[in-house]
Amino acid sequence: MADDAAHDPAARRAAAGDPVARLAATRHEFGEHGGVNLSIETSSTFTVLEAGILPDIFQGRSGPRGGCFLYGRHFNPTVMALSRQLAALEATDHAYCTASGMAAISGVILASCDSGDHVVASGTLYGGSWALLHDFLPRKAAIGTSFVDVADLAAVERAITPRTRVLYCESIANPTLRVADLPALAAIARRHGCRLVVDNTFAPCIVSPRLHGADVVVHSLTKFINGASDIVAGCVCADGDFIDGMYDLHVGSLMLLGPAMDPRAAYEVATRLPSLPLRMREHSRRALAYATRLAELGARVVYPGLASHPDHTLFMRLANPGYGAGGLFTVDLGSPERAAVFMEHLQNAEDFGYMAVSLGFSETLMSASAASTSSEMDDAALAEAGIPRGLVRVSAGYSGRLEDRLAQLERGYRAATA
Ligand code: PLP
Repeated sequence: MADDAAHDPAARRAAAGDPVARLAATRHEFGEHGGVNLSIETSSTFTVLEAGILPDIFQGRSGPRGGCFLYGRHFNPTVMALSRQLAALEATDHAYCTASGMAAISGVILASCDSGDHVVASGTLYGGSWALLHDFLPRKAAIGTSFVDVADLAAVERAITPRTRVLYCESIANPTLRVADLPALAAIARRHGCRLVVDNTFAPCIVSPRLHGADVVVHSLTKFINGASDIVAGCVCADGDFIDGMYDLHVGSLMLLGPAMDPRAAYEVATRLPSLPLRMREHSRRALAYATRLAELGARVVYPGLASHPDHTLFMRLANPGYGAGGLFTVDLGSPERAAVFMEHLQNAEDFGYMAVSLGFSETLMSASAASTSSEMDDAALAEAGIPRGLVRVSAGYSGRLEDRLAQLERGYRAATA
């Protein structure tokens, strides 16, 4: 949506610096009494000194950026403090946090599309996002989606109609780990006057979609960013007008649908954010070691950091240096039965990790995507997206000694393929 000059990726990246530097440059928020941590503002409503301020807030003449808070579903100071840090992480002007990643995604689509509008989306998405676009929004709001292979740029362009408002993809797709060519997709979006919305849940620190031309970046904070598998949360990172629009008291999608983040959750996530770059490096280091070992054993393993990955060169071009290629890899065991043996052996015999959905935890998490987080997709959509039923998605944790974990993984693979 912004002009071409503002989207020169090299210039933007140079000016924006590294995610760690951007995070460090956000003003440290002290607690109310000078504490080194944020205070948690628990109030759901806020007083004003003069009666005239309330109508000013409702008419949009005063707001939280001028220090006027109103009501917790609108803006909360603790949630805003976390939002500022997430905006810094993603190099956007502003951000706002939501009660879940799905709340962020649905809020962005509904803020961008009216009834009758259209979305072009990658055919490989987290199953919940796929179901939202494939089933829920067409039925409930007459917002249709054409799913395409976003690696096929000509197909993306062909799918766009005069009613297309959003081009939607994941930076690293769940679960295929295909990498989106963000600069090329951003150029298509700009040519057609639609927004490029990128779910960056799999790649915080690693990829900065805004610096490659994305207009809006969404996250499930539930995953790597919180990192402790104890909070469900999400965020939208974008320019100020877009964020303010989502919180417009009268028409904003987040304001009216109401998926507000609890300030206590905002505090928790904020305390974990400073360790995110360190954690991402270690998740990546482990995932690379596991994927390399499995590849040596002859496994059908997919990891963006391996030269065998179809988008390895693209990934290296997009990635911020120093954070590796992410904490996720997949291995196709060839059948659901073998996938089950692999995961059960690794959990129950080796204590290598857990059979559980989600990702970005200190412990390794394993799930068979077709039967779990992509189960919304029918057989045709799974085949189209390239998600075989024997595929196991692994989110590499960082507990335990790497050498021990590698030996466990090797025994698990041998047990499943004996
Ligand atoms: N985006 C991706 C890539 C995901 O993997 C998920 C959940 O697994 C979501 C969004 C949804 O996030 P949440 O569970 O926080 O609503």
